[in-house]
Amino acid sequence: MQITEINKLVRKNILSLKPYSSARDEFSGTDGVFLDANENPFGELNRYPDPHQKELKKKLSEIKSFPAENIFVGNGSDEVIELTFRIFCNPGKDKALIFTPTYGMYEVSAEINDVELIKVPLTDSFQIDFKTLENYLDDVNLKLIFICSPNNPTANSLENIEKVLQRFKGIVIVDEAYIDFSMANSFLTKIDQYPNLIVMQTFSKAWGLAAARVGMAYSNDLIISLYNKVKPPYNVSGPNQKAALMALQDKAGFEKRKSIILEQRTWLQNQLDGLAIVIKLYPSDANFLLVEMTDANRIYNELVNQKVITRNRHSVVENCIRITVGSPEENRILIDALTKL
Ligand code: PMP
Repeated sequence: MQITEINKLVRKNILSLKPYSSARDEFSGTDGVFLDANENPFGELNRYPDPHQKELKKKLSEIKSFPAENIFVGNGSDEVIELTFRIFCNPGKDKALIFTPTYGMYEVSAEINDVELIKVPLTDSFQIDFKTLENYLDDVNLKLIFICSPNNPTANSLENIEKVLQRFKGIVIVDEAYIDFSMANSFLTKIDQYPNLIVMQTFSKAWGLAAARVGMAYSNDLIISLYNKVKPPYNVSGPNQKAALMALQDKAGFEKRKSIILEQRTWLQNQLDGLAIVIKLYPSDANFLLVEMTDANRIYNELVNQKVITRNRHSVVENCIRITVGSPEENRILIDALTKL
């Protein structure tokens, strides 16, 4: 697939869109008397933030060994998902595809944008069912395939993602929200090879900044320029850009906290393994565990009564509860609560 073919996948109104040019786009110097943006001259947060998050992208680029100009930063990766629909999918006409069960926002964004969503169930071992997928790949209205790996809520990494990239002529979004907890390689290194690949990551998980709402898309120049075209002018707030930058400056702290979470994941797995109410413990490449229980609804409610909140996934994987790996103290409280049942 050639990069020029990507243009054919983009909605015509987006291709011809003239983006909003903000005051900070027109003059981006730091010195001077700023009377250009109708800001208030008083206060701490009175100035608009950098619309292109240059400092943050520069640091991110160093850490990820990936060009800064090929990074888009969104208001959480949820914004990246939403913008991806807006760029590529004509409402009422185009389609997107997901492998279920998976992260819920792909479906919500599809519905908001009036885009038909094809759901291909994962196999029993939570892998891509290529035989079923094959039925949809030649539909010219199928624009997007979302692949969440490691997948939420199944916690495993998906295999053979490259086969989808090779075979599908639309856009493939690999959502790597949980990649830092996994031994699997990131698809960032494949972006040069596949013009139809977008990789998403986030500061909400391993970087510990869910409150700050900072998510990324990594892709080629053309796709990144489309995100920049459609995004709201100041989509990532000043304090949030700063929080992400500070997190990146403490790589040692990041590694330390991540290794505690990974140790705790093993500890929790060992503890859960010994409980009679646990039927099956799925392997995890993420910061959560999918656990099949004797009776998920009852156990979930009894945990809530003990003020321990987990995520009941019974509606998507029978009798399963998703448990986030917490601090050592939180995990101990969870195991004590489960032991009491
Ligand atoms: N992708 C996946 C797979 C997720 O689980 C989540 C959040 N739970 C997101 C994206 C959204 O992340 P963000 O906080 O960056 O919007």
